[in-house]
Amino acid sequence: MRSELERHDPQIFELIRQEEARQTGSIRLIPSENYVSAAVMAATGSCLTNKYSEGYPGKRYYEGQQITDVIETVARDRAVTLFSADHANVQPYSGSVANLAAYNALIQPGDTIMGLALNSGGHLTHGSKHSITSRFFKSVSYTVNPKTGRIDYDEVETLAKKFRPRLIISGTTAYSRKIDFERFEQIAKSVEAYHMSDIAHIAGLVAAGLHQSPVPHADIICTTTHKTLRGQRGGLILCSAEHAAKVDKAIIPGQQGGPHMHTIAAIAVALGEAATDRFVSYAAQILRNANSLAEKLMEHGFDLVSGGTDTHLMLIDLRDRGIPGKRLAKALDRARIVANFNTVPGDSASPLNPNGLRLGTPAVTTRGMKEPEMDLIAGWIHTISENLDREHVIERVAREVTELCSMFPVPGYFVA
Ligand SMILES: *Cc1c(COP(=O)(O)O)cnc(C)c1O
Repeated sequence: MRSELERHDPQIFELIRQEEARQTGSIRLIPSENYVSAAVMAATGSCLTNKYSEGYPGKRYYEGQQITDVIETVARDRAVTLFSADHANVQPYSGSVANLAAYNALIQPGDTIMGLALNSGGHLTHGSKHSITSRFFKSVSYTVNPKTGRIDYDEVETLAKKFRPRLIISGTTAYSRKIDFERFEQIAKSVEAYHMSDIAHIAGLVAAGLHQSPVPHADIICTTTHKTLRGQRGGLILCSAEHAAKVDKAIIPGQQGGPHMHTIAAIAVALGEAATDRFVSYAAQILRNANSLAEKLMEHGFDLVSGGTDTHLMLIDLRDRGIPGKRLAKALDRARIVANFNTVPGDSASPLNPNGLRLGTPAVTTRGMKEPEMDLIAGWIHTISENLDREHVIERVAREVTELCSMFPVPGYFVA
């Protein structure tokens, strides 16, 4: 593969090689990113990308599905077993598309949806004013309590009673605490709303049994496959038997064409990996690392939203330091520590220049880093935050980061 690409398209080969060097030589703290295994990578780069398979196993619109039918069935069965759901659809192209399909399956245009506000840690597709979801649906948002940084379930209930949404969304993209899916179920039932749960970030923790599962408590559960679940980039929908036909129809013919079979095969591989004891240990280490990183950052005086974490991620509130999140994120990037700037609850600044920094441990944990490395990383973040314009300090940290990275290889395979 290497020589083919190198010979055929040296420009793209060289760019991929550079990206590979960037990925292996930097510390990846973006909580939505991970590194897939060589096995997942191999399935992704396979001949399955050449096949059209519109429809579902046994009911396709194209011939030649002898093998793809089996692959999709294996992927579905593995998802159903791993999450103890009645039904799985492995075709969504991504997490965003999975969410649209869930709405498409359950509600009508003009209905009201209620999700966590974007600046409280919700996702764009949960009814943000910038998203198509607020053009097709009326959108009401709940927020986290600005003092505690946590979801206030009583407030969610009050809002639900007031606005009577058709569908309530649980699940977050920048929230560091566990979510009480059972409580969301009770609130949704009390106003006769559907409960849709979006576990894009925490699917790996749920699969490992380290976070309450929404499966018995939600009508439809959507997730990405590439965050803590550590699979190929894609989407997955789980639901009860009652909603199975509606979900499948919402995906195709509702909104997608041919499924990406190479992705589905790679997701099947990742689901197989996620069912192992090794994955459970991995997920437990993600949590230990996040907790350790959070503790060390607080020892360095950083203010964490909600005072810590019980998931894979944390949010630093930089307002007390007067450092814009983007400035810190850019300086960290020069030191080869890659994170993302983020709004914090109650942030009055623009999402393009907010006062927070979001960090997570799934990727560094995949590389085998543990608590001692979290200690080093917290120290470097502290150093950079106090030396935002001192390039010689940033360069020194970058050298130390590179050295640490060389001791923790990335498991996937690469072109060079
Ligand atoms: C990442 C994320 C998504 C979107 O997934 P994409 O694959 O990027 O489309 C949806 N919901 C939540 C909660 C997310 O964190």
